[in-house]
This record gives sequence, C-alpha cells and structure tokens, in this order.
Amino acid sequence: MRGSIKLFNVFGISIKIHFTFLLLPIIFGHFYGLRGVFLILFVFCCVTFHELCHSLQAKHFGVKVEQIVLLPIGGVAAMKSIPEKPKEEFKISIAGPLFNVTFALVLFLPAYFLLGPENLFHPGIETWPKTFAYAFWINPILAVFNLLPAFPMDGGRILRSFLADRMEYGKATRIAVGFGHTFAVLFGFVGLISSPPNIILIIIAFFIFIAASQEGMQVDLRLTLRRFSVKDVLPEQFVSVSPSTPLSEVLALTMHSHQEDFPVVENGKIKGLLTRSDIILTIHQFGVQKLVKDVMRTDFPVVQVKDPLIKAHRLMEEWQLKAIPVMRREEVVGIVSLEDISRVYLLMSTSKR
Ligand SMILES: [Zn+2]
Repeated sequence: MRGSIKLFNVFGISIKIHFTFLLLPIIFGHFYGLRGVFLILFVFCCVTFHELCHSLQAKHFGVKVEQIVLLPIGGVAAMKSIPEKPKEEFKISIAGPLFNVTFALVLFLPAYFLLGPENLFHPGIETWPKTFAYAFWINPILAVFNLLPAFPMDGGRILRSFLADRMEYGKATRIAVGFGHTFAVLFGFVGLISSPPNIILIIIAFFIFIAASQEGMQVDLRLTLRRFSVKDVLPEQFVSVSPSTPLSEVLALTMHSHQEDFPVVENGKIKGLLTRSDIILTIHQFGVQKLVKDVMRTDFPVVQVKDPLIKAHRLMEEWQLKAIPVMRREEVVGIVSLEDISRVYLLMSTSKR
C-alpha cells in the first residue's frame, strides 16, 4: 500500500504502518499528553496482534501473507487468496477477534483489583487509572466491532463461511455482501446523525461498502471464469511479429488489427512478448526506429489452450499484463487479452439477470 512505512518482520510477514497512523500519536499527544500517546500505542499493539493471529492461521492453511498494514481505522493483512473452504475461512476469521477476547479475559481480574471498579467501569483520560481502564476496554470493543456481520469484516466472513457450508459459494457471498452493504449504510447513517457527526464511523462505512462490493465482484468473476477454458474465448485470428520488425510496422499493425499486444515469433518459436505500453513508451522516447527485439519482454508467462480461463486471469494479475500468449504445446496459437476475459464475464453476468 502506498504511503506505508515498514516497521519490522515477524514470521516472514512485514508489519507496515500507514503514515496517517503516525499522525494519531501526535494528535492524541497534543490533546491528551502522555496518556493519549499510551492509548494509541496500546491500540496499535492490539490491532497488530489481532492481524497476526489471522495471518498465522492463514499461513497454517498454506495462504501466503505478505504484509500487515496498520491504518488509523484498523489493520489489513494482505493475503494472496482467501480459502473457499468454509471451515478454513471460519478459522482464519475468528482467530483475530479470539485474540482480543482472550486478552480481555486475562486482563479482567488484574484490572478489577488494581484499578478498582470505580475506575474500571468509568474509563477516561483524566488520570492514569482511568486511562488504563480505557485501555482495558479496547479489546472487547475491537472484538465486538469486528464480529459484526458486516462483510468483509471478520463477522461478515464468518457469516459467509456459515452460509457457504449450506449453499453454493457464490450465493453465500452475495448474501454476505448484502449484509456488508446494509451495515455500511447503517454505520454511515449513525455517523451522520451523531452530534457532532462521527467522521471515523462515516469513513469506516465508506470502506466497508466499497470493500464488500469489490470482494463480491471478485468472487463472481472467479466463479464465472472457472467454467471456461482459454480455448472458449481465444480470438480466431491473431498477428505475431518477428524480432527484426521495426516499431513503425508494429504501429501500423495496431491501427489495422484489434490487437494491442503481440507475441514475438521467430522460426516458429516464441521469443518474446511486445506489450502496448512498451510500444508507446519506446516510441515516445526514441521514435519508431527501434526494432521489436530492443523492446520486447523476454520474461513473460504463457498459457496452454486447454488451460482454465481463471489461470490466464491470475497470471495477468500477477505479471500486471493485459494479454498473454496462448500455446498448443510449443506452438503459439494466439493471444488472450483482459478484454476477451471481461467480455465473457459481462456476457455471463448480464445473462444471469
Ligand atoms: Zn480481523
């Protein structure tokens, strides 16, 4: 995520903090002094442990977790993919809130006897005992808030795993997304009518709404693409270029064909991939004199014509490409583009209605 600073590595996961989170200790320190800074750092620790518990459980199921980013509104663990097995999704989702509940239970008796009920049940920031009481309540609040069935928050994921055990995964996701949207609207409404308006709640509502929609669409796309193979969407005609073709000729080709990316072939063997962005960038810098071999990528993925379409999509995402060459064994038989994939997706999603 842009604007985040790496703090340290733990279990091979890098813990990062978004620069906006750094503003919080300063703001709280300014208004509430040392006690304010302490509270923010305590929240920081609780959120980090919460996300670490998700991440470790995910790693246990073989999911790659690259980083945890701490934002002012909570933490985000960047996982490569969330398992579609309901039991695994359930265990990963519950792990975070479970940490907060356990921590709160462990802290309760010491907090009760050390701070006394007069402080524990009347938290504040005026004195240290009241501040510690405040810190105690952070974990129960984090647990309850995350367990609300507002997809894609933890509670929403738990709801989906519960539904997916009983019905088709796509349908379960659609219902969970509906819950996410409903809660987002509710949070936004409560945030607006509070006086003064609760800005944090409004921002959270906004994030939940967008995140729920995005995840719903991703699942939909994944499930649709799984039913097709590369062969099903592969355009019948395609143009390839040779390494010695000048870019001026390639430019003419892009005008006359619908193709924007080209496999580079020599003596019937694939040698490279020429992408539209590389063509534009080179022409912009050096003009049309350059040859294909000066510009082409030699490190690129390919798919086989029989491969599932989802594989082509995944490779495009991983390599940040808009098209990849399609092979039948060693021979290039075409190029499949993101457009070809979105066409089949749009066609299927409109026919569903
Ligand atoms: Zn969580």
